[in-house]
Amino acid sequence: MGLVKDGVVLDGKLRRFFVVVHMTLTIEAIGYDGAAALAEIASLFFGSLRQRTDGRIQVPHEENVRIESLICEGEGSRLIITTTKFTEDALDDTRWIARDSITYEVANSEWRREAKRQLYVILSRETRLSFPWGALTGVRPTQIACQEIERAAQRESDSQRAWYGEAFDRLTRYWQLSEQKAALVIETALAEQRILASLAYPRPNVTATSECNRGLIQGTDNIYPFVVYVGLPFCPSRCAYCSFIARDAGRHAELLEPYVEAVVREVEMTFSRGFKGDIAAVYFGGGTPTSLPAPLFERYLDGVLKSIPLEADAELTMEAGRPDTIDQEKLEIIRDKKFRRLCINPQTMRDETLRAIGRGHAVEDTLKAYKLARAMGFRDINMDLIAGLPGEGADDLLESINEIVRLAPESVTLHTLAVKRGSSLIEDGVPHAVFHPDEALIDAVEQSHDLLRAHGYAPYYLYRQRNCRSGLENTGFARDGYASVYNVAMMSDAVPVIGFGSGSTSKAIRGRQASRVHNPKDLSVYISRLEEQVGKKRALFNL
Ligand code: SF4
Repeated sequence: MGLVKDGVVLDGKLRRFFVVVHMTLTIEAIGYDGAAALAEIASLFFGSLRQRTDGRIQVPHEENVRIESLICEGEGSRLIITTTKFTEDALDDTRWIARDSITYEVANSEWRREAKRQLYVILSRETRLSFPWGALTGVRPTQIACQEIERAAQRESDSQRAWYGEAFDRLTRYWQLSEQKAALVIETALAEQRILASLAYPRPNVTATSECNRGLIQGTDNIYPFVVYVGLPFCPSRCAYCSFIARDAGRHAELLEPYVEAVVREVEMTFSRGFKGDIAAVYFGGGTPTSLPAPLFERYLDGVLKSIPLEADAELTMEAGRPDTIDQEKLEIIRDKKFRRLCINPQTMRDETLRAIGRGHAVEDTLKAYKLARAMGFRDINMDLIAGLPGEGADDLLESINEIVRLAPESVTLHTLAVKRGSSLIEDGVPHAVFHPDEALIDAVEQSHDLLRAHGYAPYYLYRQRNCRSGLENTGFARDGYASVYNVAMMSDAVPVIGFGSGSTSKAIRGRQASRVHNPKDLSVYISRLEEQVGKKRALFNL
């Protein structure tokens, strides 16, 4: 981008007088290594950024602006962080004038968050863009909400209304969340804490007025059972927005059997020396596990489940995401293995969009799969929808939500479209502005939440991804008693997770620290190095 200065353009012949002066906005961390943290915030506003070799971030801008982030020592172990915006003096371009500045003192451990927050506030004023989640960029905003609830509850010991108000204020004023997101994240954080508390040993007696409801149970002093993830990276076709490693199950049929055998073996070897913990939930995800042919699907479930030492009332979830992979034979297998939760994911109830995003099924397939599952006795069905799909407006989303609540599944997860590298949407080129706040989409998501609440669903888990349209989130809603333990546990960083299959992650929790090991994403590497992966898991969990 450039600006015409002192130029005279009368016609083509006189263009030699044309002078373009490039204006830039430069962001710099002074005296500390904060470029990566600052780039995370800057990319919200300007898209993917190229960092200069001197560590500065520079983007084209309508005037020359410099933003400096400075950290100095405060009292004790505290740090003083200041972010200042300067603009070039109009008369003397060697002089810079401070136009906007924020200073705040924080604990040593909080410098990163505070530097990011300050930059968010300054850039938001500079660009006049406000994101629904304000300065929060992390995957789990409920963790920040818990910290704010705890901070407020410690000060306001008596009254629930007082701590709620204080936490809400901090989220909206300090972190710059919209009021709707602040209310959503507090409600969801409390729901997550209640579910975690019900999992913990010794199981606390959780009531509506217990400490848990005041946000005081953080899980760090509790012991939790494990949850297990088993992944199958095959789908019947590839969705346009997919960045996952999913392969086409039809075109790679020769890989299905070796893959299933490898996962069964991985589970067997992992638990073969005896296992001391309890397993509260197992999630079969993918990809789409139900894209396996029925006989192989049964072998897969039998092989994996026979080696997992499950708690008697363990929650078993099957992600049968693509409705076109569901038939009576596979549902019978799932039911016979005592799966409680079944996920059938329409994503939208609009055929035109389904064709555009390459889902390879129609709305009719969703309706048939849902009715069949109900008729066969499934009483805990989740359905996923996506807000912000290409070509869809607010009315289309609300129409889909209305159709889903008429079906009345026990839970509904509302995602927002994330456009990621590796998906065909990004290969087609997506301008960064698509991630800027779109009031119509933000409003449609709020209205969808209201509709779900009006039909008896409440939010119980929430996470964010990079590059979601309008910086929005993914929220799980459930009717009373149907929240997924696995979803909350897996997101919590309080509960250990054992992952099986290519690309899966295992996570051990020690105190407040989570340590992870990752299985290789590449199928042939995964299959050929099973022993190595099992060894890493054993070391991680002391098995
Ligand atoms: S169903 Fe999920 S994993 Fe499979 S292609 Fe679509 S987005 Fe990717």
